[in-house]
Amino acid sequence: MQYRTDPASGNRLSALGLGCMRFPGYQLGRPDAKAAQDIISRAVERGINYLDTAYLYPGNEACVGMALEKLGLRDKVFIATKLPHASCKRTEDFDRFFNEQLKRLRTDHIDYYLMHNITSPAQWEHVAALGIKDWIARQKREGRIRQIGFSYHGSADDFPRMLDAYDWDFVQVQYNYANEHYQAGTAGVMEAHARGLAVFVMEPLLGGRLVDKLPRAAQEILKKARAGHLQTPADWGLSWVWNHPQVTMLLSGMASTEQVDQNASIADAALPKAMTPSQLETIARVVEVFERFNRVPCTGCNYCMPCPQGINIPGCFAAYNASFAYGRWTGLSQYFTASAVRTASPKLVSNCIHCGKCARHCPQQIDIPARLEDVRHRLQPGPVDAALRVLARFRRDGAAE
Ligand code: SF4
Ligand code: SF4
Repeated sequence: MQYRTDPASGNRLSALGLGCMRFPGYQLGRPDAKAAQDIISRAVERGINYLDTAYLYPGNEACVGMALEKLGLRDKVFIATKLPHASCKRTEDFDRFFNEQLKRLRTDHIDYYLMHNITSPAQWEHVAALGIKDWIARQKREGRIRQIGFSYHGSADDFPRMLDAYDWDFVQVQYNYANEHYQAGTAGVMEAHARGLAVFVMEPLLGGRLVDKLPRAAQEILKKARAGHLQTPADWGLSWVWNHPQVTMLLSGMASTEQVDQNASIADAALPKAMTPSQLETIARVVEVFERFNRVPCTGCNYCMPCPQGINIPGCFAAYNASFAYGRWTGLSQYFTASAVRTASPKLVSNCIHCGKCARHCPQQIDIPARLEDVRHRLQPGPVDAALRVLARFRRDGAAE
């Protein structure tokens, strides 16, 4: 395993961190404890020493805590988890959430603690007004929090304001070759590094969009340029992030021991500044193709779910993007699966009542109801809509008989 030094603490961190959010079963809110244990065990065997979870990942902290206790690995890893700051209404809430997190994680301290999913400095100002600065200082003094930071999904302009707002130890930003100018972007990574902060990268493969959902033309470009350890789209995407010496660690949400093995092998080989000018040129060509097809920047994180109307929001956006990348029939077929058209009550995008609940939670700040309208126009136009309604009525009548 390749290790990099956290400039703020001096900790030696594996260049690859284990994002725990996507353990099998996460879509149902019930991560599989046995699978999680196997993944964590393999990750530590492969040299990974950083695990990232959050209060808001359903069942995840408890799953991680139980696995570490069973495996006896607490002292071998750094644990990162996050405060659900939007749910903090009073000063006492900081203790309430934090104590619950310690209990779930079966530990007496958190190595890396984050304000979760900051999209605007106003969110920090809200908890600052409740006294969080004093609270953090006390936790640090008492050794219950070791390093403090924030995960960020806001604009490039607001990012330096967040850096100025507190004496942070680290930041966690979305960064990959398709997002150089999106959210914190390259400028944010450089700025945080220049200030002596550790820089942790999330979404290095854009929730899989830079792997299996990469447009065919882009996959062809990468295939033709294969060399050394750069064989698959994942190799290219991860190596591009690690090519930056300013990046302390990259988090990957691994859902199987095989993924751990694959990513750990890339981490061994992908050293800082290792990519050649011609390989970087290849990536630039892939970005050009990707941008032509990437109509909705959904990463499939599921934060917007559940929708009260049952709409599979990430599934519908994936189908919409696929309709540009792979053709309208592929998109339609994916849309029919995502919206359960073979049942008596399909969850079509036209069922959206524009309540806005989903958009409030989207880290990519997608105007979800508006973009679902785009999906409806493309994948559920008049004739398709009429056919789906007839089909649904037929199924309902059949079920009633
Ligand atoms: S706005 Fe539409 S898609 Fe979003 S939660 Fe409400 S009904 Fe569901
Ligand atoms: S729409 Fe936003 S919140 Fe929902 S899955 Fe996509 S990126 Fe995540």
